[in-house]
Amino acid sequence: MNMTAIRYAEDMIIVDCGMMFPDAELLGVDLVMPDLTFLKENQAQIRAVVLTHGHEDHIGAVPYFLSEIDVPVYGTDFTLALVDRRLEEYELDEEPRFIKVKPKQIVEIGPFKVEFIHVTHSIVSAVALAITTPLGVIIHTGDFKVDPTPTDNELFDLHTLAEYGKRGVLLLLSDSTNADRPGYTESERAVRPRMEEIFNRAERRVVVSAFSSSIHRIQLVLDLAQEYNRRVAVIGRSMVSVTEIAHSLGLLDIPDGILLRPQDAMDLPPDKVAILISGTQGEPMSALARVAVDNHKHISVDEGDTVVLSARIIPGNEKAIFRMIDHMSRRGAEVLYGSMNPPLHVSGHGSIEEMKLVLNLVRPRYFMPIHGEFRQLTKHAKLAEHLKFAGLEETFVMDTGEVLEIDHHGGRKAGKVTVGRVCIDSGSVDDVVQEMVIRDRRHLSEDGIVLPIIAINRHSGRLEGAPEIVSRGFNVGEDEAFVEAARGIVARTLEGSNQEEKTDWGVMKEKIRADLKRHIVKQTQRRPLIMPVILEV
Ligand SMILES: [Zn+2]
Ligand SMILES: [Zn+2]
Repeated sequence: MNMTAIRYAEDMIIVDCGMMFPDAELLGVDLVMPDLTFLKENQAQIRAVVLTHGHEDHIGAVPYFLSEIDVPVYGTDFTLALVDRRLEEYELDEEPRFIKVKPKQIVEIGPFKVEFIHVTHSIVSAVALAITTPLGVIIHTGDFKVDPTPTDNELFDLHTLAEYGKRGVLLLLSDSTNADRPGYTESERAVRPRMEEIFNRAERRVVVSAFSSSIHRIQLVLDLAQEYNRRVAVIGRSMVSVTEIAHSLGLLDIPDGILLRPQDAMDLPPDKVAILISGTQGEPMSALARVAVDNHKHISVDEGDTVVLSARIIPGNEKAIFRMIDHMSRRGAEVLYGSMNPPLHVSGHGSIEEMKLVLNLVRPRYFMPIHGEFRQLTKHAKLAEHLKFAGLEETFVMDTGEVLEIDHHGGRKAGKVTVGRVCIDSGSVDDVVQEMVIRDRRHLSEDGIVLPIIAINRHSGRLEGAPEIVSRGFNVGEDEAFVEAARGIVARTLEGSNQEEKTDWGVMKEKIRADLKRHIVKQTQRRPLIMPVILEV
């Protein structure tokens, strides 16, 4: 949920506006957004939102923000196209005001002059910001690595950064994500040798899963497919739409005739097909998770196929990812993942030496490490200590919500503003539910709880008798016809699932929860907490 407000007198700009995906403990919550209380209180001062790049943790809350506070949004073409894609799921009262910018461009917003500086990162069209204020220059790096050989040959504009450093920078805010990794992060190009080896020796289908925003990686798969004479099917909603956006903006080169319709992918000889698919994190409803349990409309993975997870395993997702890998391994596919050498994935964030490089070029008077856990911010702060001899006066390690105040006398921490998270149901801004504790309490007290209880025979995998529907505090639940209908829904969900899905309780619970939720919301306009219980008998 990256978001920074920069205020001079009565004018404020917002840098980035991110969301986060809820982890398993936020039961039933679809999205988590930043609490906008402070910004709403100061709404009249907000002049614009300025975006550094298109990752969800930097743009995901823009639709939610715009539904509350209507201001212009600045960003590069790709970043704004990704915001626009998200906006399609919302209905805003006002047309959003997007202002497209290019690297090296300078825009004036109130008392601020903002220059966009190209940086290298795992997503294309990423920028750092040089914000000139009446008090001095603030550099905000956004997310970056210093990739000396980016695959699109768009170099990190270190010159411009250095020039600001030469003229004097008041405050540097810099990405701390990899502050515990020594040395340099490998170039995006380092992924190619390993991927090439896979294409070279694969005798059947090659299935590559990557983040849909990772255009560099998608380009690599397209290039290798062309070299090794394979056609490519693009599978998964986000993968398809982001690929289209990047292509239409000239950021992705799709060789003529290489694309294959998903429904044709199984008709070609297996050694002539590569598949690009979303779902690296084992999200239960993603395309790859469905392929893993052999329940995808168009694609299946068989004996001898090669599946590549070209992404980092995000902590918290291990169980879901390994379960998915197990499913595909059981079916005889070779699944490649993790940090082998040469790598299948490289980080988009710079390591210690790259952080030092940026610190040394910018040589700020004040430094505030951003983006990372508190331990990483602290480590990044330590890295800047040597700059004390080059004019660094103070480093501020800030907690979320803390205020840094700078005036003619200097810089200091100055209290806290309200921050936090807002949980949202089903991707609609109308469904804001305050804090999750309140949310669960509300669910339980107003809408009650529904427990579909399903008994599955350990040996046959079959349903033992009709599903039970137990409810508390959910009035309609005592209604016979309603219970009958809900039983029917659960039974149909089970029938529509194949053997492999049925053995995966995680998948089954999610499917039952989603189907039943849809039914109950439609019938009753209420949102009870739904917790499927599966018993093996
Ligand atoms: Zn990023
Ligand atoms: Zn980020």
